[in-house]
Amino acid sequence: QSKPQARVDGSTGVKFSDVAGIDEAVEELQELVRYLKNPELFDKVGIKPPHGVLLEGPPGCGKTLVAKAIAGEAGVPFYQMAGSEFVEVLVGVGSARIRDLFKRAKVNKPAVVFIDEIDALGTRRHGDLSEKKGDLHNASIQERETTLNQLLIELDGFDSGKGVIFLGATNRMDLLDPALLRPGRFDRKIKILPPRAEGRLDILKVHAKKLKMSPSVDLSPYAKNLRGWSGAKLEQLIQESALVAVRKGHDSILQSDIDDAVDRLTIGPIRKGLQLS
Ligand code: ATP
Repeated sequence: QSKPQARVDGSTGVKFSDVAGIDEAVEELQELVRYLKNPELFDKVGIKPPHGVLLEGPPGCGKTLVAKAIAGEAGVPFYQMAGSEFVEVLVGVGSARIRDLFKRAKVNKPAVVFIDEIDALGTRRHGDLSEKKGDLHNASIQERETTLNQLLIELDGFDSGKGVIFLGATNRMDLLDPALLRPGRFDRKIKILPPRAEGRLDILKVHAKKLKMSPSVDLSPYAKNLRGWSGAKLEQLIQESALVAVRKGHDSILQSDIDDAVDRLTIGPIRKGLQLS
């Protein structure tokens, strides 16, 4: 069980209420929070603890956000690194970083370890070693393999009751080394899909709540019309609307400010007049 100094790495402060439009995924991930809050209970009852969970989906739809929310809801430390940060030409650096990351999490458990862009690290091995491509290229492939092997070792070392949840995120599932997907490693996959109209409205509301909106603002036309926009892009729309409002000297965000922001984000700052209804 974690000690007070375990909080030095800090939790995220993010809650599930900050996440919108991916309700099914959130529902499924609640179990991880229950586990992190009380790993011993799972042990006592004899429930096999959750292990590695892979979050899969396009950029900007909330993979990192939801991972942070799991740690935030449970009030446990969050250890984040990107797969690309482990990929180094210098031999041994990547695997040392993996070891260090997991060590810190284990010392401070219960904890969440999150590796974004795990495909950068876990791409299929033995792919493209080639004499033609030169020593540097081959050394970097070999280093990536060493790093991936270290990750597999760490994942396998998470025996029951360890109290550390391992989350990975990718938008290139097809590139992942199959070894990562074996039982006992990433034994669950959860899709984080782009939001539909209702989800887009909820996401807009989550971000609008943080700013001063005029009470007359209706966000539903944007939710309806901005098909294909990710959570990140919708957040950007709200931020941009605030900037437009400030530039125009409004003391709260008006509907016309959001219309202008949509124009700026879709057709650039010069042309105007996009109809949203
Ligand atoms: P990437 O694959 O590029 O790492 P990601 O799926 O991890 O993307 P996030 O980093 O979680 O995306 O999203 C970026 C930001 O966009 C979040 O911090 C949040 O402010 C906003 N956002 C994205 N999805 C949502 C969502 N479902 N609900 C609320 N806000 C969201």
